[in-house]
Amino acid sequence: MPEHPEFDHVIVGAGLSGLLLARRLLMAADAGRLPGAVRIALVGPVPDPAQRVTFAHWARRPTPLDDWSIGAWSELQVVDHAGHARVVGLDGYRYTALAWDRARAALRQTLAADPRVTVVAERAVGVGGDADAAWADLPGARVLGR
Ligand SMILES: Cc1cc2nc3c(=O)[nH]c(=O)nc-3n(C[C@H](O)[C@H](O)[C@H](O)COP(=O)(O)OP(=O)(O)OC[C@H]3O[C@@H](n4cnc5c(N)ncnc54)[C@H](O)[C@@H]3O)c2cc1C
Repeated sequence: MPEHPEFDHVIVGAGLSGLLLARRLLMAADAGRLPGAVRIALVGPVPDPAQRVTFAHWARRPTPLDDWSIGAWSELQVVDHAGHARVVGLDGYRYTALAWDRARAALRQTLAADPRVTVVAERAVGVGGDADAAWADLPGARVLGR
């Protein structure tokens, strides 16, 4: 089976976890916390650009996803059964809704532009590993990480 060049990290799935893991690995390398070369293969099909996905999450501090925020709240209005309303804080948390489809596309594009990252826009048909290596199998090729 033909092989792609070897990588240090093979990430299968370019969704929320895969994209942010790749980003974190690059940040760690930039900060000198990962010794040696960092060559990342990110394996995952291109998402449907017409699909609109909204995602909400809680955070106390700014996150890398804030650029795609479409609304954020740090307090709630609570109305009791008698109709009395009061505003309550969220104990330092923010509840942020974001356009995940746009965030995902932008993260993927930024990663693809980094020379340390190879984005493989395919679906893996299998994954495996042993003591020395881990791999993702594509139809007709293997992406190997050591
Ligand atoms: C309708 C809905 C609404 C949600 N709303 C929220 C919310 O508001 N807030 C919140 O915190 N969580 C929400 N979640 C949960 C959130 O989406 C998941 O927790 C999160 O996406 C998990 O991240 P993940 O990377 O594991 O999976 P995903 O983000 O699903 O990523 C998996 C990726 O793997 C790829 N993949 C699958 N098979 C293969 C293969 N064989 N080879 C290569 N790639 C493959 C997929 O294409 C996908 O890109 C929601 C989930 C759903 C379904």
